Amino acid sequence: MRQPLVVGNWKMNGSLKQTSELLGSIDDNISDKMACEVGVCVPFVYLAAAVQAKTKLAIGAQTVSEYEAGAYTGEVSAMMLADVGCQWVLVGHSERRVLFGEQDQPLLAKTLAAQQAGLVPIYCVGESEVQYKAGDTFKVIKQQVNSLLADSAVDLSRLVLAYEPVWAIGTGLTATPDEAQKVHAFIRQLVAASSVSLAAKLRILYGGSVKADNAALLFAQKDIDGGLIGGASLDAEAFISICQRA
Ligand code: PEP
Repeated sequence: MRQPLVVGNWKMNGSLKQTSELLGSIDDNISDKMACEVGVCVPFVYLAAAVQAKTKLAIGAQTVSEYEAGAYTGEVSAMMLADVGCQWVLVGHSERRVLFGEQDQPLLAKTLAAQQAGLVPIYCVGESEVQYKAGDTFKVIKQQVNSLLADSAVDLSRLVLAYEPVWAIGTGLTATPDEAQKVHAFIRQLVAASSVSLAAKLRILYGGSVKADNAALLFAQKDIDGGLIGGASLDAEAFISICQRA
């Protein structure tokens, strides 16, 4: 039995005041008794404040350095994230891949660095609009997931995968529940080639314009274990409704 998980990705939004207010509003409306686990990935500079707010939410970062320490100006290491109380970190979000040129190899290094520091990476995969229209979704997903699975040092028991079709992120478009389920089942099958038992336990989140009104059908799919929520996670009411659907 996989516990549903809903993670908000605030991206580069907010302020110290908004961080505290939004976290407070979400926290006031979620209970320990909820079936789903809830987390939010906030901008680096607000991580410590978010952890210190001592809410029921797990706090995550949106990226991490592949390096341990040293002369890497502007980078933030996995140890630093763990040090301030972070539990999760997004790795390979499509905005990192597309806008900042992050590729499979450094993403693997980031995943390992995160796990070594005790963080749980949420590893994102997804096809672009062009790839989707060309019918290449499964080919792209296979290549992205297999590049992660190729390294036996990756601990699949301490990892979450997120399927986020790039064409659905921030666009208001979503994969249909059936389309998303097919990709999630395919991802689980790829992981099962490494370990059947770990594949059965692995949580695979769907991301891409999830809103309160489409979340229930998506989350009802057999292989969809929750969501990675961008825009709607900046609105406490919408985010809580999504968590309730999970
Ligand atoms: C995301 O940024 O991971 C995301 C899914 O965004 P949105 O929900 O806004 O599409």
